Amino acid sequence: MKIKLDEIPESGLSLDVVDEGRALNEIAGGNLDFSFLAPVKAHLEISRQGRSFFISGEIKASIRLNCSRCTREFDYPYDAPFSAYYERTGKNVERDSELKPADLEVNFIEGDELDTAELLLGQIALELPMQPLCTPECRGLCPKCGADLNLGECGCGGEAKPESKFAKLKDFKIK
Ligand SMILES: [Zn+2]
Ligand SMILES: [Zn+2]
Repeated sequence: MKIKLDEIPESGLSLDVVDEGRALNEIAGGNLDFSFLAPVKAHLEISRQGRSFFISGEIKASIRLNCSRCTREFDYPYDAPFSAYYERTGKNVERDSELKPADLEVNFIEGDELDTAELLLGQIALELPMQPLCTPECRGLCPKCGADLNLGECGCGGEAKPESKFAKLKDFKIK
């Protein structure tokens, strides 16, 4: 959904938006390593001061991820609050707007519209786990034969313990 920035009153705006997962995927250039199982819903509270916008709210989405250990697909219910700060680019950008919380980065909006699909995708990408796990106990794949160890021992005689990513980190030294 596109919101005309000029139509956001200084008194603020509260609204519910729904964006198709397809629209979010298109914004990402079709390169997402996860998929949306249903439209993404969000509640937004927008405060405005001139060309500055503070947006907070909550996003709900149903996402399909691939487990970083066993590569199986699993469904991940996403439900998280967020806040973001935007400034509209232009000549008279207000510096040090009272709306800007110290811990938030400034996002810039070119043009006169805010695309909520872009906003939602950015927030979701920030919050998704870097190494998603289908279950916290996932046993991963056998490093030798590639069998899914969640289904039982593979019996190939390879090491039963999944390869630990941290093992490599231990060898890493800062020069
Ligand atoms: Zn897994
Ligand atoms: Zn094996």
